[in-house]
Formats: sequence, C-alpha cells, structure tokens
Amino acid sequence: MPDAFYSNNQMKRLQLICFLALAALTACRPTSQPVKIRGEAQGTYYSIIYYDSQHRNLQPQIDSLLHHFDLTASLWEEGSVIRRINSGQDSVVNDMFADLFQRSLQINQYTQGAFNCKIGALVNLYGFGFKNREDVTRGQLDSLLLAIGSDRSRIEGSDPRYLSGKAQGVEFDFNAIAQGYSVDLLAAMFDSLGIGSYLIDVGGEVIAKGLKPNGDNWVVGIERPAENKYDEQEVETAIRLCDQSVVTSGNYRKYYEQDGIRYSHTINPATGRPVEHTLLSVSVVSRESWYADAMATAFMVMGLDQSLQFIQQHPDDPDIQAVFFIYDQGGEYHTFATPQFQQLIKE
Ligand code: AMP
Ligand code: MG
Repeated sequence: MPDAFYSNNQMKRLQLICFLALAALTACRPTSQPVKIRGEAQGTYYSIIYYDSQHRNLQPQIDSLLHHFDLTASLWEEGSVIRRINSGQDSVVNDMFADLFQRSLQINQYTQGAFNCKIGALVNLYGFGFKNREDVTRGQLDSLLLAIGSDRSRIEGSDPRYLSGKAQGVEFDFNAIAQGYSVDLLAAMFDSLGIGSYLIDVGGEVIAKGLKPNGDNWVVGIERPAENKYDEQEVETAIRLCDQSVVTSGNYRKYYEQDGIRYSHTINPATGRPVEHTLLSVSVVSRESWYADAMATAFMVMGLDQSLQFIQQHPDDPDIQAVFFIYDQGGEYHTFATPQFQQLIKE
C-alpha cells in the first residue's frame, strides 16, 4: 500500500490526532516576554520565570506568601506554629499546619512508615536541624523511638483548631514536604492571577506550568551527584515538563561526616538512624510538588530495590511512575530511570 494512501477511517483518525495536538498546543500557549524573579526563603533561594501579558512584578506577593508559610512550618523561624507546638508552648494550630499534618499522616500510611513527620527530635539529635550535633546514645534513641511509637497526635476542633495527644518528646518536622508544598502555594497564586506559563523553583523543587510562548516545553536539569556539598552544581540529565513538578531528594548536599562515614539527613524511622544505603538521590515527577517532595524522601528511606517494588505495586498512582534514581555501586555512580521518566528526557 502506498504511503500517501489513507482509508476514510484512517483519515478521520488523523484529523482527530491533528485536532487534539493543536488543542493541546493552544491550551498551553501564552504570549509576551518572561518576567524573572529571584529571592530567598526557607534558608534557600527561589527563582521564578513567568509569562504575564501585564508584566506584573509579583515579588511582594511571593515574598509575603513564603513568609506566611515560614511562620507556620519553618523550624528556623522563632515563634512559628511548628516551633510553638514542638516546644509544648501552645496547642493551637492554623489551617496550614493542619493541612501539612494531615498530608504527612496520609503519606506515612501510604509508605508504611518510611515517611514520618514526627522524627524532628531525631533529626536534631544528629545535628541536621537547628541545634548542634550531639553524640547519640542508644538510650536517647530508644526513648525517642518509644515516644514516636506511642504518639497519638491528632487535630481537633474547628475554631480554633488544636493538636491533642502529642507524646512527650515528639517534635514535628515538615521539611521533607515543606519546599514542595510552598511551590504548590505559589503555583496556586499564579493560577489565580490567570498566569498560564511559569517555572517555579524553590531550592531545587520545581513546578512547570504550560508551555513557553514559542511552544517549547520548560526544561529542568537533574543534578549530578557532587563529591561534597561545596561542589558546583552539574547537570546529569534534563527533562521536559508541562503541568508537572519534579523534586529531588539527595544525600550529597545535606550530610555530615564522622570518622570517614557520611551520614545523610534522611532518617529511617524504623531504626531511628540516618539511612545507610547506596541511593544518592531520587527525583520524582508528579502533578503536585508536595507529593513529589514527600515521595522522593520516602524513596530515599526505602532504598533502590524497595522503591522499585513500591512503584510496581502501585501502578494506579500516576504520580510515582516517572522516577529517576542515582545510586552508588563500587564507588561509582549509576542511574536508573523508569520508562515514564525516560520519556521526559530531552534528547
Ligand atoms: P528532603 O530533602 O525533602 O528529603 O527532606 C529531608 C528533611 O526531611 C530532613 O532534613 C529532615 O528534616 C526531614 N526528614 C528526615 N527523614 C525523614 C523521614 N523519614 N520522613 C519525613 N521527614 C524526614
Ligand atoms: Mg522531600
């Protein structure tokens, strides 16, 4: 059969495909020059590019939203809701704290405990938090694990909402979803302003909305593992995104070394100790940033094999199908991309 010959049905299908492709392109296509904004929040940078026909400078709104977020969830912000709850000073929480808490519990159940927002005191014990590192004794570990295991924290009431049932010694830590969550907050702000094309990056947690005016996808680099935390960032691979977020959790930026052993900032809640396996980083692509952030941390706890098993066991969860792992083998790093992640890689 000659190439140019199509049956009636084939012709209709072709027209439908062309129509859908055109609709997808026009749906995402804005017009104008980009606005670029950089700033600081959550002890890190943020960088945002957006196409807005009105060229509005949204930095004041962005800063105020991120500041409001810090006043709820930041462990470094004195007087934040989380600091007051952790110190036992207060039990009243705001809606944002309640939301972070409920989402964290949801991921805790989903990942069978790999993700746990109650590990704050353990994080401090190893010195990843705002306190100085201490030498950790078995006794300290056991009593914190016991406290976390017996904790029955829940949100009650409506106005005000408050936290009850917190076991003594338990401290919350939302850092494993905080940056992703704040990216989603910013994305919601841009959506509400009718901006349909943007790239938001808060400390490496990224969301890309729509396409650029020329029809190109937003392209985001995944960092190559660094020898140490002070090394310059290099790109391992780049992916194309549209209406997706990518979040990377890695152990080569935040860690400490003792007696030649590198301890990661990810805690295995089952043992109470920093994770010790060959995974160097995990990048998860999801529709929402908080989710990618939470799952990237959970996969760092599970390790490569268990993570791959988990992904296989949850084929109905579209938000954990595109995942990229970088792991160490014999002192050299290797990569593994799930088939859905491979499809995003820019040639
Ligand atoms: P991320 O970079 O998103 O993986 O977040 C890491 C941070 O989350 C750490 O610095 C801790 O503050 C916190 N964290 C560590 N281990 C866990 C865990 N198993 N579950 C939830 N949060 C954790
Ligand atoms: Mg995370």
